[in-house]
Amino acid sequence: MVRKWQILCSMILALTFAFPESAFSAVRKHSASTKKAAHTTKKKSHKSSKKVASRKKTRAKTKVATRRWRTKVATSNMMWSAPMNTTPLSPALSARMKANFQRGQAGRYTPQDMVRARVFSNAPLLGGIKPRTAIVKNLIIHSTETAKVADAKTVVHSWNSGGLRHPGTQYLVDRDGKIYQTVDPKYATIHVNEKRTIGGITNDNSIGIEIVRTGKQKYTQVQLASLVQLVDYIQERFPIAKIYGHGQIQPSNRTDPVAFNWNLFSKNLAHINAASTQTAYREDSREDNQG
Ligand SMILES: [Zn+2]
Repeated sequence: MVRKWQILCSMILALTFAFPESAFSAVRKHSASTKKAAHTTKKKSHKSSKKVASRKKTRAKTKVATRRWRTKVATSNMMWSAPMNTTPLSPALSARMKANFQRGQAGRYTPQDMVRARVFSNAPLLGGIKPRTAIVKNLIIHSTETAKVADAKTVVHSWNSGGLRHPGTQYLVDRDGKIYQTVDPKYATIHVNEKRTIGGITNDNSIGIEIVRTGKQKYTQVQLASLVQLVDYIQERFPIAKIYGHGQIQPSNRTDPVAFNWNLFSKNLAHINAASTQTAYREDSREDNQG
């Protein structure tokens, strides 16, 4: 009898451990089985959510890897500097080139020679340069709109403190009319935000010019005159289809060049264009193909 009791007790204990929710009442049995089912479902859903999570994780990993790869590609495309010979040309030739530039007849001179003739001052970008992957069709005019008074060199200096990938234009026109070239315009720089631009404008298919001013300053006469000469020169060397203000092609967050007189600019440009020769681009593209 004692032995039977012992067996019964151990069975009850075993059952209690196996079904802790208590399987002895019929009503409870039902609830227990439901619970069990729920538990299984939970387990299943836990399993499947685990699966989803792991899938998500893998996807996230792939995404991160892709992003890293993209960054790597983008970064590896960026250059700290581009070749530029700055050896001065003879004073006589330099003077002739400057006169031709002011008359709108300098299209046959390379941007490098314009630096060598000191028609353009050299203010090299450190970083923010990349080889072009598209033909230059657009010219984008900006104004620096600095909070404090800053000359062109200061602006370039501040860009250059931004690491390998920083903003910058190929040209700046300073308050005194001096034109700065930061890199040969056959290279692209970052002067528009391609996520926000409209009309297919990219850094690769455009050249940027910054006109130096704070929000309180007016553009100077010499500055506007140099701008027109520079635009004419670029039009001669590249197949520019259109000239835009930055605000026109990135209207969601840009308004520059601010307070710019487009009518006067167009009139002056048409005047100097009339004297221009459209021969240089072909020579330039041949050079590019060889390089
Ligand atoms: Zn701008």
